[in-house]
Amino acid sequence: MEFRDLRRQYAMLRNDIDAAMMDVAASGAYINGKPVRILETDLADYVGVKHCVNCANGTDALTIALKVWGIGAGDAVFVPDFTFFASAETVAAEGAVPVFVDVDEQTYNLDADKLDAAITKVENVGRLVPKVVIAVDLFGLPANYNKVCEVARRHNLLVLEDGAQGFGGAINSEGRTRRACSFGDIATTSFFPAKPLGCYGDGGAIFTDNDEWAALAESLKVHGKGSFKYDNVRIGMNSRLDSIQAAILNVKFKAFKEYELDAVNRAAMRYTEFLTPLMNEGMIKALPVVPENFISSWAQYTIQLHTKEARDQSQIRLKEAGIPSMVYYPTGMHEQTAFAGLGYRHGELPVTESLCETVLSLPMHPYITDEEIEAVSKRLADALLQ
Ligand SMILES: *Cc1c(COP(=O)(O)O)cnc(C)c1O
Repeated sequence: MEFRDLRRQYAMLRNDIDAAMMDVAASGAYINGKPVRILETDLADYVGVKHCVNCANGTDALTIALKVWGIGAGDAVFVPDFTFFASAETVAAEGAVPVFVDVDEQTYNLDADKLDAAITKVENVGRLVPKVVIAVDLFGLPANYNKVCEVARRHNLLVLEDGAQGFGGAINSEGRTRRACSFGDIATTSFFPAKPLGCYGDGGAIFTDNDEWAALAESLKVHGKGSFKYDNVRIGMNSRLDSIQAAILNVKFKAFKEYELDAVNRAAMRYTEFLTPLMNEGMIKALPVVPENFISSWAQYTIQLHTKEARDQSQIRLKEAGIPSMVYYPTGMHEQTAFAGLGYRHGELPVTESLCETVLSLPMHPYITDEEIEAVSKRLADALLQ
């Protein structure tokens, strides 16, 4: 069994993907070709924002967003402690200080009350200027933007949505559906192969309704280009999306919209059906929670066991049965070696610390079968009964 079966997806989409790649090969336009423009238009349409600017990867997308806003030394950027390193790395790389905020135990996303408290604390200390909140749509579930945006607005902060894992998620409110990557003042995503919408290499995108920020992002991703390519008006980077990746994404995006997003949601429901009895019997601490009116794109299906021993044992037993599982994530940002200089102590962000010891992500993708889900669930039950 595969954790995320990308080969099964390729087998399904092979004719179209092969044709799309060959078209690019024949076109000679390997950078900035037609597929790139098509993708940007289609993604912006789907997400429901004015601008989509593609770039080389999700990390660059975050960096470009921070550069657009001129974030740097002396600025505080609030980041959930339980996330992939890039969410915080990009902040530090710009010379700003990431301030880590604990997450909600059920959704794994930023805790808005703790965010409020963290911002207030930085304001009171007065050493750094609070500028941005990075909210991560972890494991496919949009962060609680109703609350996060309210807190950010009250403190005069911008919201940067790290939607690397969240593309396809949504929140229904007041009779309308708002999609992930439309919640932040700027939002970013990643097309790393294992993300909900992935290409066959690296890729990323920036989303915003703001014309000026979109134009700045366009410039920054091509060496700070001005009105023509060899007039460079600012220091930028080289962060384009290859035509061939865009062509692959155009094919995959169609499948994503037509059935993959539904398929992962069905798969998540199956897991929950199979695993709920184990939770009711006290063997599993928690199954993924999708709050009312939220839709997840299920980048991961992540459960919590009661102890680190139970988690580690489960992972070993699954592995013995040929079932891969992953620990996303074993270490919170505040305990990353690279951030040791920030002076956090163990015990300071207890929810993240507990999650790092107890979470386990199970095989999950649109092409997983009911039989496979049942096999994973049975094996997990066996492991927990031992
Ligand atoms: C994957 C990921 C990124 C970085 O994306 P890349 O395309 O790998 O650079 C950033 N943030 C989160 C939350 C991610 O999961």
